[in-house]
Amino acid sequence: MNKHLQQLIEVANLDKEIDALEPKILEKRSKLDRMLKEKTLKEQEIENIQEQKEEINLKIRSTNTLIEDTGIRLEHIAKKHHEVKSERELKALNIEEELAREQLTKANQDIEVLEKELEAKDACILALQDECKNLDSEVMEEEKRIATEIEEIKKEQESLFVQKQKMYENLDQKLATFYEKIRKWAKNTSVVSVKKQACGGCFIRINDRVFAEIKQSNDIVTCPHCGRILYIES
Ligand SMILES: [Zn+2]
Repeated sequence: MNKHLQQLIEVANLDKEIDALEPKILEKRSKLDRMLKEKTLKEQEIENIQEQKEEINLKIRSTNTLIEDTGIRLEHIAKKHHEVKSERELKALNIEEELAREQLTKANQDIEVLEKELEAKDACILALQDECKNLDSEVMEEEKRIATEIEEIKKEQESLFVQKQKMYENLDQKLATFYEKIRKWAKNTSVVSVKKQACGGCFIRINDRVFAEIKQSNDIVTCPHCGRILYIES
């Protein structure tokens, strides 16, 4: 086989190996990323509950104001009782008093319900905070667990890259530029083998003349259909 082509195939194979390591890193990180996402969701949930708590507190405050106002009204009614002159006035005053007392009872019941809601929300927040804490330690453990593995993959990547650089220095510069140009669009299928007289990249059949050229392997031959560099596997 043509020496240049042989070198190019080796470079292309190294590029493939380097690229194949990237998803490996992502895969190693997948559990960690999932845990981090889960933690963010829990933190958002805590924020939501805190907002709900503020709404409840507002309701408690306005109900307390209502209770105070009703208390003042009841005092007034009590004073009016001394000034009552007729049976009709007394009846009306009694009805007013009864209504105010009902309102007071209702408001106090409301506050009780709201305070229970607050307690429930606090319990939710505490549980979520606990879960976050647990996640934190799990995240730390996972980070420790994968750090060495990722480091090893990165080292492998680096050494492959150094190998590639060395090969590149020996590679014909024009050919290297040509390869990089194809690689921009064809990525890891820039240099492909011919199978059953078809391009291994676009799978279109190659005519006999070009096929013969590739077989002679005196020169770098590209696919007439897609432009990838072709070779025949020995
Ligand atoms: Zn092709």
